Amino acid sequence: MGKLDGKTALIFGVANDRSIAWGIAQAFHREGAKLAFSYAAENLERRVRPLAESVGADFIELCDVTKDEDIERVFAAAKERLGTIDVLVHAIAYANREDLAGRFVDTSREGFLLAHNVSVYSLVALARAARPLMPNGGSIITLTYYGSQKVAPKYNVMGVAKAALEATVRYLAWDLGPENIRVNAISAGPIRTLAASGISGFRDYLKAFADIAPLHRNVTIEQVGEAAVFLGSEMSSGTTGDILYVDSGYNIMGLVAETRE
Ligand code: NAD
Repeated sequence: MGKLDGKTALIFGVANDRSIAWGIAQAFHREGAKLAFSYAAENLERRVRPLAESVGADFIELCDVTKDEDIERVFAAAKERLGTIDVLVHAIAYANREDLAGRFVDTSREGFLLAHNVSVYSLVALARAARPLMPNGGSIITLTYYGSQKVAPKYNVMGVAKAALEATVRYLAWDLGPENIRVNAISAGPIRTLAASGISGFRDYLKAFADIAPLHRNVTIEQVGEAAVFLGSEMSSGTTGDILYVDSGYNIMGLVAETRE
């Protein structure tokens, strides 16, 4: 028996087969969930459609999360075609390339607002739209990174956006708790994806991470998928407003003066 049997999940953020959202979709599919997908831009459809169809989905809708009308259209379609949903996955982030290099102090107002609009406000907007489709409760899952808590040079404006995203998770958890809608984030270690390719020096991140983390390895989209099954299923019915680390233990470390003998 699958851990998500009988559940419907609407997944935002698959761009290709390296996307964290795709790791989540595959794990959800294995656990028996019915899946529905939304993608960001027309030019992504040719990648997303075959992936979605390979896990039996026929709900594959365009939604630029900076556009209220797109969000409205997708959730109206979801109401009509899916009825209710049990799990909402938000695996979306964006910042201008120039704001993911150099110094944070040089972030422009426009770049700051863009990163927060796409990467943070979208969670509020999607949660609000999903609420009426979760009459019996549900689980909302977003993706964050430890650059929210500690300085990760070059992650810059995205670190600040992730801090806001994590606070957003807590405030949404409070608001939606009475409706039995749980809101949690997975804080993943660095993974080579399209979004990560925008971060200057990302390869160095991967190496330093594996050197320092207690498990001495990078994490995979499959491992994030397993954590998402936990958060999406009744196994986590007592958990909301939380940040679950899937990072080989990196976040427990302080100053590392020497590598392991
Ligand atoms: P990805 O590029 O595969 O996914 C990012 C997604 O955001 C893409 O599908 C993209 O289309 C979507 N997106 C961007 N702008 C959008 C918009 N306006 N409307 C709708 N969708 C939009 O990369 P990923 O690494 O899988 O990123 C997924 C999430 O995981 C992000 O929140 C990212 O910050 C987070 N995360 C990534 C890492 C990592 O190292 N890759 C680590 C921790 C957290």
